[in-house]
Amino acid sequence: AQVRTGTEARALRRTASGWQVETSAPHGTEVLDADAVVLSVPAAAASRLLSSEAPGAAAELAPVEYASMALVTMAFRRRDLAVQPRGSGFLVPPVDGRTIKASTFSSVKWGWVGDADPDVLVLRTSVGRHGEEADLLRDDTDLVRLSRHDLGEAIGLTAAPVAARVTRWDRGLPQYPVGHLDRVARIRAHVAGLPGLQVCGALYDGVGIPACIGSARRAADALLEGTPGTGACGGAGQ
Ligand SMILES: Cc1cc2nc3c(=O)[nH]c(=O)nc-3n(C[C@H](O)[C@H](O)[C@H](O)COP(=O)(O)OP(=O)(O)OC[C@H]3O[C@@H](n4cnc5c(N)ncnc54)[C@H](O)[C@@H]3O)c2cc1C
Repeated sequence: AQVRTGTEARALRRTASGWQVETSAPHGTEVLDADAVVLSVPAAAASRLLSSEAPGAAAELAPVEYASMALVTMAFRRRDLAVQPRGSGFLVPPVDGRTIKASTFSSVKWGWVGDADPDVLVLRTSVGRHGEEADLLRDDTDLVRLSRHDLGEAIGLTAAPVAARVTRWDRGLPQYPVGHLDRVARIRAHVAGLPGLQVCGALYDGVGIPACIGSARRAADALLEGTPGTGACGGAGQ
């Protein structure tokens, strides 16, 4: 297998024997022939790629909205903490009116983070809700300050971090409003009419990583069952 990073899929076309993917990379445009294609890109890109072969699916994908967010990761010396956080973190409901919407105690949640330096506590907060993205216009210093304020109120953490980093995720999380599952069913119905094509990823069956992996596995299984020469239909040639 060959993995091509930094390569954008720009167009998708059906051919007599499968699919053609037009890509653009730093070294120029390329056309790849494929027996089958799994589209695992966000909604806007999927909509563009399907516009000529599955306009119905493209129209359903185009309006899917995404939330942007920022992660504020901070490291504290454990000896500076009055109380050691327990559990893996917490969620903050919108009615609380806080800037942060969640905090993950990374050193507790992931053993390898804790093991990297047992004297340090690493945690992160997330900022930015769908439709309420004004806080994301703040600079990094402000986001760290507001995160520390909310952590102080929530878990009594008042120590100063020894390091902090803000990572911004523009349009990172697809939104699931009422009716989203029906939309997903309609997208899948349109795609089902195109042999050798599957869709998967966060916008279909759940945004968590386990859900994304599950949808990718189902997409691959469906292709292997349906693509001549790769599975149940053709036998050899996987
Ligand atoms: C800040 C943040 C924190 C999160 N934390 C957690 C967590 O703690 N636990 C958890 O379970 N989930 C978490 N999630 C959710 C989870 O990480 C995502 O839902 C999941 O990674 C999405 O995977 P995906 O493959 O569907 O999409 P993505 O990871 O968005 O991958 C889509 C890929 O498609 C590429 N792409 C776009 N257009 C094109 C194109 N035209 N051609 C080629 N490639 C293209 C993009 O560059 C991208 O690499 C978090 C999400 C965010 C944003």
